[in-house]
Amino acid sequence: MTATTVSDGIIQRPLAEGFVRNAPLAAVQQALKDAGLPTDQLTVPYVPVVADVGGQRVLFDTGNGEFGAPTNGKLLENLGRAGIAPDAITAVVISHCHGDHINGLRNKAGALVFPRARIYVPTPEWAWWMDDQRMTAAPDAIKGVFNAARRVFGPIAQQRVRFEPGAEVLPGVRSLPAFGQSPGHAAFTIDGGGQKLMYWADAANIAALFVRNPDWAVQFDMDAEAARQTRRRLADRVIRENMLLAGYHLPGSSIGRLAVSGNGYDFTPLMA
Ligand SMILES: [Zn+2]
Repeated sequence: MTATTVSDGIIQRPLAEGFVRNAPLAAVQQALKDAGLPTDQLTVPYVPVVADVGGQRVLFDTGNGEFGAPTNGKLLENLGRAGIAPDAITAVVISHCHGDHINGLRNKAGALVFPRARIYVPTPEWAWWMDDQRMTAAPDAIKGVFNAARRVFGPIAQQRVRFEPGAEVLPGVRSLPAFGQSPGHAAFTIDGGGQKLMYWADAANIAALFVRNPDWAVQFDMDAEAARQTRRRLADRVIRENMLLAGYHLPGSSIGRLAVSGNGYDFTPLMA
């Protein structure tokens, strides 16, 4: 099995009260300082993973496509640098339906960006975001996610493959329930024989905050307590089974090792 992390770019945002919902701003700033990071501004990377496993070339999550900021939407460019053509992708596996993970699947002209790929979406995630009644009742702030899911998946509602988190998705790729960030969020283990990789998608946002302090809740977690339990459960498994870890918002090469540190964990990327 070969895994390649491919950057879609970054987003930068000023650090504001409320980004961490359950910690005072001063504690958040201190955690950033301890990690050698700026305390006034956050840099969040977006990093999909390509795995060559079981005879498939599988892309996990798709970046922002043509719908993000000028600092992201760079997945295609960077796949090109890695020598991976879009039509060589045979499967796209989606962790959850937030726009930064699905918008890259279809461009503004309406075309699928990975034309030969079968599309795999977690069943409970699909059920949540494609529910018209729930969309009508949703606050405006979250309507964009419902719209993105419809734009991306509407035309392929019949072709896409749904999977229950926990099921094997493809040979060598098993999904894991990882609810919290969103109602059907899935993580994955990818089996390389002697070495396993976990791709935990958004089980944690910025590592210096939420890997280091796994009980902190990022503002995007829809169910903060479920997300907290998921984060600890997945992290403990990565360590117990000596897996490599990849995550969509992890720093550096975004693939690396996890270790227990105090009441939380430290993530060390294989390449800084
Ligand atoms: Zn995300």
